[in-house]
Amino acid sequence: MPVLRFHPWIFSGAILKTVGKPAEGDIVECYASSGDYLATGHCMPGSLAVKLFTFKKQEIGKEFWLSKIQEAWRVRKSIGLIDNPLTNAYRLVHNEGDNMPGLIVDVYDSMAVLQAHSTGMHDIRQLLADAIIKVSEGKITSVYDKSAESIRKMTGRNVSDGFLAGETGECDVLENGHRFHVNAVSGQKTGFFLDQRENRELIARFAAGRHVLNMFGYTGGFSVYAAKAGAKIVHTVDSSASAISIAEGNMNLNGFDSSEYECITADARKYMETMDQDKYDLIVLDPPAYAKNVASRSQALKGYRIINAMALSKIKSGGILFTFSCSQVVDRQTFTSAVTAAAVDAGRQVRIIQHLSQPADHPVNIFHQEGEYLKGLVLMVE
Ligand code: SAH
Repeated sequence: MPVLRFHPWIFSGAILKTVGKPAEGDIVECYASSGDYLATGHCMPGSLAVKLFTFKKQEIGKEFWLSKIQEAWRVRKSIGLIDNPLTNAYRLVHNEGDNMPGLIVDVYDSMAVLQAHSTGMHDIRQLLADAIIKVSEGKITSVYDKSAESIRKMTGRNVSDGFLAGETGECDVLENGHRFHVNAVSGQKTGFFLDQRENRELIARFAAGRHVLNMFGYTGGFSVYAAKAGAKIVHTVDSSASAISIAEGNMNLNGFDSSEYECITADARKYMETMDQDKYDLIVLDPPAYAKNVASRSQALKGYRIINAMALSKIKSGGILFTFSCSQVVDRQTFTSAVTAAAVDAGRQVRIIQHLSQPADHPVNIFHQEGEYLKGLVLMVE
């Protein structure tokens, strides 16, 4: 039984009997048919019936959640992300990876952004925000709840985003010494993509003297690192005009003026279709999650194949391609196969020189390896 190995989900097919009428979001205890206690979690609608947050029978209240958030804080401290003079933006709570399925908390300097992906977590958001402020040793003073979109999609319920503490919704952060403006209120997801922190650092090693295309660049994360590392040309492309305007701001924030970079609002495929052959020798492809669920997986794989084939066929000989998938339902092997098919389509010789993933503040519960959602490859193209 997966629950005995601490798998954090219980599916409806595994439930023999339900006592009472638990509603979505309720806290439920789960027992084996022998009567032995197994775990406690939040009741979910649909086939994923319970998201488990403890395997020890105990009272679930304010103190319990405070100790969970305290543990997440301790982990971030132990991996060097708190009191770090070069980085003050990190993920404090990562879903199943922190044994809090349904909860994401990202920290941007003194502002935390909470995103609930279950009604159970959404119902206790104020209690969680209070716990975040309490454990943060005075470092976090604002908590913004950015759950409306995920809750609406999941439950159809109309809820609003809003402050649970303080009123800071945007700020400048430091990531490995680079500066970025983050707007939690109007930005995508929680405002910034923290999961690429270490991959951005890696690109700096390849960037000197190169002509860089940061495709799906959002607010210019990879672009800033590449420019700082001495890239000759840095072009950031994204279909979102508001992201592109923040990307320009971020280039400026790091000391580059508009003659030194280009930020372009465009659709990825249209841009790559018409761009000149050999224009770039370092390309980043970091598309949004093409597959949101298993049903859309094969369509997503076609999408990955097409954009990778475009980049691989146009990249200059000797070029480097950083290519990513953040679709949870596309595993590493499947993604690598899609990129392999793209290399065949492009008719280029390609070497994999590095496998990339998500950083330590996005931990993966070993019993829930689907949590490793970010997969990347660094390719060298002959
Ligand atoms: N690499 C970024 C994160 C990328 S998130 C970082 O390091 O911060 C994916 C981005 O793809 C989003 O900014 C979204 O606006 C953009 N996007 C989505 N569809 C697109 C399309 N068809 N063409 C170009 N960009 C697109």
